[in-house]
Amino acid sequence: MAAITPPRQVKLDRECELRIEVGENSPLRLRLLNGNAEIFGTEIPPEIWLNFPPRLKFAIFTWHGATIEMDGGSDLSDYVADETPMISYVNVHAILEARRNRAKASASNNAESSQGPRVIVVGPTDSGKSTLSRMLLSWAAKQGWKPTFVDLDIGQGSITLPGCTAATPIEMPIDPVEGIPLEMPLVYFYGHTTPSANVDLYKLVVKELAQTLEKQFSGNAESRAAGMVINTMGWIEGVGYELLLHAIHAFNADVVLVLGQEKLCSMLKDVLKSKPKVDVVKLQKSGGVVSRPPKYRQKSRGYRIREYFYGLANDLSPHSNIANFNDLSVYRIGGGPQAPRSALPIGAEPAADPTRVVTVNISQDLLHLVLAVSYAKDPEEIISSNVAGFIYITDVDIQRRKITYLAPSAGELPSRVLILGTLAWLET
Ligand code: ATP
Repeated sequence: MAAITPPRQVKLDRECELRIEVGENSPLRLRLLNGNAEIFGTEIPPEIWLNFPPRLKFAIFTWHGATIEMDGGSDLSDYVADETPMISYVNVHAILEARRNRAKASASNNAESSQGPRVIVVGPTDSGKSTLSRMLLSWAAKQGWKPTFVDLDIGQGSITLPGCTAATPIEMPIDPVEGIPLEMPLVYFYGHTTPSANVDLYKLVVKELAQTLEKQFSGNAESRAAGMVINTMGWIEGVGYELLLHAIHAFNADVVLVLGQEKLCSMLKDVLKSKPKVDVVKLQKSGGVVSRPPKYRQKSRGYRIREYFYGLANDLSPHSNIANFNDLSVYRIGGGPQAPRSALPIGAEPAADPTRVVTVNISQDLLHLVLAVSYAKDPEEIISSNVAGFIYITDVDIQRRKITYLAPSAGELPSRVLILGTLAWLET
C-alpha cells in the first residue's frame, strides 16, 4: 500500500487542466469544490466525492476556473498544464454540431442531406484518439444527440473486449470511471489483438459492422442526424494505412481527424482529394497523453477481460457452467486449406483461406481462451453475424468430454455456436 497523504486542494485557472495518473496501489478520491470542470467532455458534479481506481490516467479540464480537492496515496502523480489543444477540439465539436442541426432540419427522405457527420479519428499509437472520440461523443450527448460510437481499435477496445469491432449509441456523457455502458453493443468478433493476424478477416468485420449500421441508420432519422465517431487503431504504416483507408471508405466517413502526425495528414489529404465532401483536418496531440508500452497494453487487455466477467469494482458475479462437448460447436476463422492439393496445379501449395470457417475439435488447447458466442445459426453465417457475448474456458476434461467455462450469467448460452481466436487470459 502507498503511504497515506492528507487531502489537498488544487486551484485551476481558466483553460487549464490537471493531469493525473492514479498510483499502482491506491485509488484516488476527488471532488469539485467550486467552478466548473470536466473529464474528457463529461462535467464533474459539484461537491460529490468521486472514486478513481488505480492506474487510471486522465485530466480535469476547466473552461472558466475551478478548485479540486484530492485525496490519494503517495504514488499518485499529477501536474497542472496551461497549454492544451482543447479550444481546437471544441471548435471541431461546434462544426459537427452545425452539421447535425443541418441534417436534422433536412427532409429525412433525402439520404444524403439527412446524414449527420461521420467522423473518423486517426493517428499513431498514443496520440489521444480514444480520448478525443470520447470528448466529441460526450459533448454531443450533452446537447441531446445520440451519436453512434464505433470502435475499430481491436488492441484496446473501449466498448467491449479487445479483439472485436463494435458500435453503440451514446445517450449520455460518458462516465469518466465506468466508461461506455456495456448495454447491448453491436459486436463483431475478430479474435486477435492485432490486425496483421488476419488482415482479410479484419476488413470483413469492419465491413459487416459498417453495413449493419447503415441499415440501422436508414430506419432511424435521429441517429442518422447525430452521426458517428469512429475510433481507429494506431497502426498507420503500410498495411495499417491501407486498413485506415478501408475503414474511411467502409463507413463513408466525411470528416477525418488526424492527431499528431503531419505525414499521415498529408498522405490522407492527397489520396482523398478526389472526394471533395471529405474533410481531412489536422489536430494537435495533447501533451497530456500518456504513452503505454506493449507490456502495459497487454496487461490492460487482461484487466478489460476481467472487467467483462467480474465488473470494474468486482461487482458482477460470473457463473461457472459445465457443458458436454456435444452441446457446443466451436469454430475458428481462417487457416483451413482453400482447395485440396489434388485440385491444384502440380507443385502448387494449397494457400490458407483467411476467411474460411473451420470446425475446431475441443481439446486442452482451448484452456484459458476467451470464445465469442455467435448469433449465427450455422457455420456459413458466422462471419456475417454479430456476437452475443463471451465465455472463458476454465477446464477441459477430455475423458468425461466436459468443458467448464465462465459466463457473465447462469443459464443457457444464447447460442451453441462459439468462435475461437487467439484471445487468451490468465485469471489472476
Ligand atoms: P491507442 O494507441 O491505444 O489507440 P490513443 O491514441 O487512443 O491510444 P488514448 O487512449 O486516448 O490514446 O490516450 C492514452 C492515455 O493517455 C489514456 O490512458 C488516456 O486516458 C490518457 N490521456 C489522454 N489525454 C490525457 C490528458 N490530457 N491528460 C492525462 N492523461 C491523458
